[in-house]
Amino acid sequence: MSIGFEIKNRDGKARSGVITTGHGSMRTPLITVNFTPALLRSGLKPSDVKELGSELILVNTLHAYLSGMRDVHEDLGWEGPVLADSGGFQMISLADKMGATAEGVEFEINGEAHFFDPKKVLEIQRSIGVDMMMPLDYVVSVRTHSLALFLTSVTQTRLWFGQAALTGTENLYYIVQGGTSSVARWLSVKDANRWLRAGVEAVALGGISLGETKQEIYDTVKFCCDRLVEDRPRHLLGVGDPEDLLECVERGIDTFDCVSTTRLARHGRVWTFGGVLRLRQEQFGRDQSVLEPGCDCPTCRAGESRAALREGLRDVNEAVVRETKLKLMKHNIRFVNRLMEGIRQAIEVGELAKFKAEFLAIYKR
Ligand SMILES: [Zn+2]
Repeated sequence: MSIGFEIKNRDGKARSGVITTGHGSMRTPLITVNFTPALLRSGLKPSDVKELGSELILVNTLHAYLSGMRDVHEDLGWEGPVLADSGGFQMISLADKMGATAEGVEFEINGEAHFFDPKKVLEIQRSIGVDMMMPLDYVVSVRTHSLALFLTSVTQTRLWFGQAALTGTENLYYIVQGGTSSVARWLSVKDANRWLRAGVEAVALGGISLGETKQEIYDTVKFCCDRLVEDRPRHLLGVGDPEDLLECVERGIDTFDCVSTTRLARHGRVWTFGGVLRLRQEQFGRDQSVLEPGCDCPTCRAGESRAALREGLRDVNEAVVRETKLKLMKHNIRFVNRLMEGIRQAIEVGELAKFKAEFLAIYKR
């Protein structure tokens, strides 16, 4: 079973539709919940996010490999579609030592040496039953502003994709690289379009949100979306603050993944339609209002007050802190899903620009 995509409505460059996989379908635009090792340790389970409206989860290829995962759906108790990241970015952030060669990536974790090449990354994803696969890509820092380095990320990603594709392209994404250079991005978009016309099913934008300004992120997304094959699903890797979702859907992105939704919640940062709440701030110690009035997440439905949740984060009992973080994570996940529901409805009736203006006017007040 491959990745199917039907665009149902358009509003400017934005699209809403349905992606189908071997484990069911999902409505787009959407955002995944990233089941990183940190999130799995927190106690949140994929079965918890289904009732919050999530239709797609993401797993780390590197973590799946290191933890000896056998079947991603069975091991995580999730029957829906699963997207896997390429492992490249995780290696950069987790590895004690890392080196990329023409053949692949060598890295060391806890004193143990590992080697990932393009074929092995897909082998791992196929063996655990991933529905939407990201190949090994070459991620570089954007802070260098080095055209040479951006071009290397394009050519190395192209080379590795060619090797990965030899094992088959079903369920596979092409990842566009190129940093903040339009020249490098254009070359990578051309590579992607060649593969998409040859039957590759979907495309992702990578190497983004690694230190650029928001405007640079939006410009890169627009530049790529304006030039990509029109009828295939487009994923944006690692971007997903509320305003980013609106800005990038407007430019033509269909799916997102981002660790911020749950990571920020664990640090007491709560997203609401009225703006960000930093629950650790003193003012919330006296705030008896519900976390977000009108929200239908389990935390808000239970009528938990901001003051009580703030106390929960500061409790001396570890179990209480953990439970409170779970409550905040559930709220933030429900928040991004409610936002996406609003975005999809707005696209359906051709009112995304109005929806965005109204949302931002209150959210950024
Ligand atoms: Zn809520």
